[in-house]
Amino acid sequence: MSSSIYKRMAQLLFHFWPYILISSLSAIVFVLLNSTSMWLVASLINNVLTDFDKIVIEILRQISPDHTLSKSAMDSLKTRTWPGNIRQLKKVLRVLIANTKGQVIRNAIIQKDQNLSGSEVQPCNSCLQSSARKENCILIRKTWLDTGRNVSLVSRRLGLSRTTIYKHIKDM
Ligand SMILES: [Zn+2]
Repeated sequence: MSSSIYKRMAQLLFHFWPYILISSLSAIVFVLLNSTSMWLVASLINNVLTDFDKIVIEILRQISPDHTLSKSAMDSLKTRTWPGNIRQLKKVLRVLIANTKGQVIRNAIIQKDQNLSGSEVQPCNSCLQSSARKENCILIRKTWLDTGRNVSLVSRRLGLSRTTIYKHIKDM
């Protein structure tokens, strides 16, 4: 008697095979679509993250080809918010380069300088009154000290004319 149930199943299979086929196929399609969408999201996140790396590396190359960024420093920059976008990123990288002794920008310097602005160097007399110009002036003076008072190097690193740099360092 037990063989009759298999016989019945075989009959059902024979009669309803298109339904079984379609439901199996739709299950496979569902799984495929699901994993595709997960893969898309993952690669999107990955792209955004590596894009940031590429942007930082490119800016760094423009500012100072001699400097590189350690992996932890890169990760640290990644976790920050950049309301000023590329401009702000550029500025921060310049400050970091000015504060870095060797050629590798390390995470320690980012952690140490939380607001990423030079604090011990004072602005020149003409920039002392304007808070907008102060930061830029300090960066110029800091970079100048860091490069061993080399105006050409400061000019190249900050993308400023030599005349501009002289204006801010004449009283030092
Ligand atoms: Zn100044």
